[in-house]
Amino acid sequence: MSNSKLAVFGGIPFISGPLSSFQSIGEDEVTAATEVIRGGILSAYIGAPGPGFMGGEKVQQFEAQAADYFGVKHAIAVNSWTSGLIASVGAIGLEPGDEVITTPWTMAATATAILHWNGIPIFADIDPDSFNICPKSVEKLVTKKTKAIFAVDIFGQSADMEALRAIANRHGLRLLCDTAQSPGALYENAYTGTFADIGGFSLNYHKHIHCGEGGVLVTNDDNLARRLCLIRNHAEAVVRTEDINELSNMLGYNFRMGEIEAAIASVQLSKLQGRVESRQRIASELNEGLNNLSGLNTPKVSLGATHVYYVYGMTLDIDTIGVSRARLVEALRAEGVPALVVGYQNLHMLPMFRHKIAYGTKGFPWNSPYCTSDIQYGPGLCPTAEKLHNETFLGINICMNELPPEDVAKIVETFHKVWTQLDQLKS
Ligand SMILES: *Cc1c(COP(=O)(O)O)cnc(C)c1O
Repeated sequence: MSNSKLAVFGGIPFISGPLSSFQSIGEDEVTAATEVIRGGILSAYIGAPGPGFMGGEKVQQFEAQAADYFGVKHAIAVNSWTSGLIASVGAIGLEPGDEVITTPWTMAATATAILHWNGIPIFADIDPDSFNICPKSVEKLVTKKTKAIFAVDIFGQSADMEALRAIANRHGLRLLCDTAQSPGALYENAYTGTFADIGGFSLNYHKHIHCGEGGVLVTNDDNLARRLCLIRNHAEAVVRTEDINELSNMLGYNFRMGEIEAAIASVQLSKLQGRVESRQRIASELNEGLNNLSGLNTPKVSLGATHVYYVYGMTLDIDTIGVSRARLVEALRAEGVPALVVGYQNLHMLPMFRHKIAYGTKGFPWNSPYCTSDIQYGPGLCPTAEKLHNETFLGINICMNELPPEDVAKIVETFHKVWTQLDQLKS
């Protein structure tokens, strides 16, 4: 079979039909959602001081469950993780023009949450093995204007939080972490997200667990928790103190999660461990099947971390393989390999950053009295991230699937089919 004609040259695709589908919502979620609908209270929030300020029964139950699960003092539910990111940056008291060092290899919301408060995103390069923000690169970028480091646990494993915490402590910075892709992953025996001043998870449809749209913040800091709750629910109408600091970044939003979503999220959270174990099983089968292909590097798990494989991220040694990534991907796709992730993000290359068009057309907040340094984005800023994105990174999205061993085996065999015929792809 592995010698049969490559599909890219007109042969029969190795994987003909779709792989096993995965239904992440079961009867338990249906029952939980139905109970809320029958009760008629779909949200119990009130944007004013008093009992309704913290939301309804299901929201509060989900928060208690999440705080217990992740081992933190406070879990705060929000209507999306993007809302959670915006609330995080507001809560630490960012001033316009403050710099926040983050990674370009992430979903755009990590960086736009900084811009949201008129902060300046500064992109550090990433580590070529973990794809997470590189502490050495971070340290070089610290200036008098730096206020925080915003790490991301990309693809399902923790950034080097120990090193980042040391840098943060040395310079008096806050440490935030976007752990959207790594719920249930461990870092030094604690759950990811809990090592940062504020961390948290996305509950959108594409993540390990979901409730449609939603997110949950985690923190051990009482003051930050209070500020997060205020930003979530109309702070401007709730804060009635004369304390000036208390009012900063308290414009207030409606980032509130509804009761149906909270009820579903509770059931989903009880399934997280099972999801994590199944993604780890898929990854270990892929590791075993793919690690002897020359020039293909399977994911590296960092010391002291466990990986929950939102994306199974590989790198290609193009010189060894002798075929470009584009050609390989063309061949793999023709054989029917699903969910390939070809490159990832280079946020510093997005037009919004390169041309500094965020608020209006005149370059705000970069071109303003608040931003005193000459910030430039574009090629050359993060060479490792650029090379990975343009040439050498190849991933498989396994988070959305519950692939049984026979499906994983098919993917593995397809890679072998392509690899045994690399010579033909060269010509
Ligand atoms: C999914 C994701 C987000 C956004 O989460 P939403 O719940 O869709 O708003 C942010 N950051 C990362 C790294 C993500 O993967």
